[in-house]
Amino acid sequence: MSDPLNVLVWSEETAPKDAYPNGINATVAEHLNEQNRIVARATGIEAPEQGVGEDDLDWADVLFWWGHLRHDDVTEETVDRVETAVREDGLGFVALHSAHYARPFTRLLGTSGDLGEARWEDPGEPEIIEVEAPNHPIADGVDDFALPETEMFGEPFDVPEPDDVVCRSTFPEGGEFRSVVTFTFGAGRGAYVRPGHETFRIYHHPSIREILTNAALWAGSGANS
Ligand code: ZN
Repeated sequence: MSDPLNVLVWSEETAPKDAYPNGINATVAEHLNEQNRIVARATGIEAPEQGVGEDDLDWADVLFWWGHLRHDDVTEETVDRVETAVREDGLGFVALHSAHYARPFTRLLGTSGDLGEARWEDPGEPEIIEVEAPNHPIADGVDDFALPETEMFGEPFDVPEPDDVVCRSTFPEGGEFRSVVTFTFGAGRGAYVRPGHETFRIYHHPSIREILTNAALWAGSGANS
């Protein structure tokens, strides 16, 4: 067995405590740490160098990023460090849910990350998630599933053409979205995983957990790993 995969799970730490008493970063890191091959560490915007100093990025094989309200507090220096680590050093980058607007993610994408006008948040309605690329490593062991409560995002999603659309969501109230998509950012692999609104316990759902594990392992197998 090779070295473990090091995953840094970043959050801006604004998630309400009702659904995530320990924060989304710690919740996701705790789950990833249950996997034999993964060592995960939670960090966030209040840590030195906003949690992603050179040492942190050197340690990590993959960076998960969750943000929502504080995208604009992420500094240019932070975005520069993350971009270099991904593009040049092959760090994997996994953007979660409202990180579609995260500055490191939009820098890597080169687009706005904007969503279509159709949006709803409350009350939570179901989301049906279908696996569109069953042979992609991120879909390993994942069948079509439904989340009982979700926040809806609508297309068009302003991203470059993804390498793969791994999962697509439909919403019974109307609309669909490319919910799990992959990109290549220079030497690094990137993925966006849409489900994960901070008021619903979506990061506890077994299929979402499987996708997060798979995304970590896949994104960590980039060019320079
Ligand atoms: Zn949300």
